[in-house]
Amino acid sequence: MTAVVLDGKEIAREIEEELRRRINDLSKNGVTPCLAVVIVGDDPASHVYVGAKERACARLGIRSVRVDVAYNADYEEVVSTVKSLNEDPEINGVLVQSPLPSGMDEISITDLIDPIKDVDGFHAQNLGRLVQGDASGLLPCTPAGVMRMLERAKLDLSGKRAVVIGRSRIVGMPLSILLAQRGVDATVTIAHSRTAGMADLCRDADLIVAAVGSPNMITAEWVKPGATVIDVGINRVTDNSEKGYYLTGDVHPDALDIAGALSPVPGGVGPMTIAMLMSNTVRATEMQH
Ligand code: NDP
Repeated sequence: MTAVVLDGKEIAREIEEELRRRINDLSKNGVTPCLAVVIVGDDPASHVYVGAKERACARLGIRSVRVDVAYNADYEEVVSTVKSLNEDPEINGVLVQSPLPSGMDEISITDLIDPIKDVDGFHAQNLGRLVQGDASGLLPCTPAGVMRMLERAKLDLSGKRAVVIGRSRIVGMPLSILLAQRGVDATVTIAHSRTAGMADLCRDADLIVAAVGSPNMITAEWVKPGATVIDVGINRVTDNSEKGYYLTGDVHPDALDIAGALSPVPGGVGPMTIAMLMSNTVRATEMQH
């Protein structure tokens, strides 16, 4: 069997088409959505990610504002930056790019963002709503992107076994909740670095989501024939190419011969994450007007 490739780029394009219509409706009322991204310090990967977000905004006609804060700025400076963006009526979405310099607490800074402008969906209020069973608010972008990808593949997950490998605040944990919510109804196992018998757990699963950050960790032997495999991992592996590295996921390419459907890296969950950030920015703007 060769798996159906779940093309994140294509689904992201469809989402962008739908967003263009909504942005057009907003502009008829004189409103242009605006996303503010705060970067603290000079992490090169952060600049790459923020560049991709800015290009997506430009494609859609969303205004983007980038606020650079020096790596040695104190906590109070970041706090006042976020507060002034909260108060600015021209700004509809605010995110603080991760990672922050060591010693700066990401969770407390995230919780300063006005929940109605929290386009990353990481504020305690937005995550809390999700735990209460309400998935209608601003959802974390990568988990929401995975759910859109599964919906688009028309997979019926009701009563199916899902294993989510990774329990982070931004990917694994919220995604597990979304998969287990009423209406989706998967039976979810959350696996992590202390999980025993991972291969057996995976072999039993109808859906495997890998969100670890470990290249090629999920091998073909772990995959039940016909299972769906979503690869969230993005790993830079050094090589002799001009770039000096290539990108790969957490899933070994051989899994393509066993799985029923599989999301590639690159071109799978990555573009979905950006599309969902754009979607949250439009949603936040609609809620504010
Ligand atoms: P974290 O480092 O926050 O979490 C990784 C998780 O993997 C942890 O829960 C950890 O367990 C678990 N883990 C680590 N080693 C193992 C192991 N050997 N077996 C089982 N579980 C293990 O990472 P993120 O959630 O932020 O990101 C995960 C991956 O997804 C990364 O590659 C990241 O780059 C990528 N990513 C991709 C995005 C996209 O748009 N495609 C967006 C965000 C992230 P424990 O909790 O016990 O430490």
